[in-house]
Amino acid sequence: MRETLLEIYRRLDGHFGPRGWWPAETPFEVCVGAILTQNVAWRNVVKAVAALKEEGLLGVDAIYRAPREKIAGLIRPARYYNQKAARLKDFCSLVVERHGGDLGKLFALPLAELRRQLLGVRGIGKETADSIILYAAQKPVFVVDAYTARIFSRLGIFPAQWGYDRIQDFFTRNLPRDTALFNQYHALIDGAGHYYCSNTPRCGGCPLAEICKSNGGRHEQLRQAPLHGQ
Ligand code: SF4
Repeated sequence: MRETLLEIYRRLDGHFGPRGWWPAETPFEVCVGAILTQNVAWRNVVKAVAALKEEGLLGVDAIYRAPREKIAGLIRPARYYNQKAARLKDFCSLVVERHGGDLGKLFALPLAELRRQLLGVRGIGKETADSIILYAAQKPVFVVDAYTARIFSRLGIFPAQWGYDRIQDFFTRNLPRDTALFNQYHALIDGAGHYYCSNTPRCGGCPLAEICKSNGGRHEQLRQAPLHGQ
């Protein structure tokens, strides 16, 4: 299965090239983007982040001290702005109150403990926590999203009903645990999902078309969906 996953990676990588994720200037900006991007298009996140930056509020301490209403007003383009403002403030509270305001100290925690603390922040779910761990803390955790489930079930790799933990475990056990690989792999999946494998797939031009079960692909290994991730 490792070879199959690496073949998929190579095909996507050859098609899209380096994706340069995460599009942010600092690790803290990655965290803010990961929190704001839930249920909204990325262009809206960019506007919200720019508004925070313009007001001098794109920092742990600044968000921690600013009134929630002020943050909410600035991140309005990111939708659900009251909830998201509260999430940003709760995340910054974790950094300030438990790690002296030093994001580096939070990120220096062992991966499992870092994940546990992030998941302890109200409103931060698995995908957001893992995005922060991979793209801001630069530790090797595989980020799963709706595109991952859709593409790999259509390819015939695993059943569509697998949940987050099972999919993540599958990739973790079948790929080298490598931060750069996980970084680019998730970014490539995002590209494939965004440009080709949408609700109504556009298989023509998809770099996985030749090997995709849903497209009558020919790859024997991909036809045999593993039931237990092996
Ligand atoms: S060939 Fe079609 S169904 Fe298969 S991954 Fe590409 S877009 Fe999705």
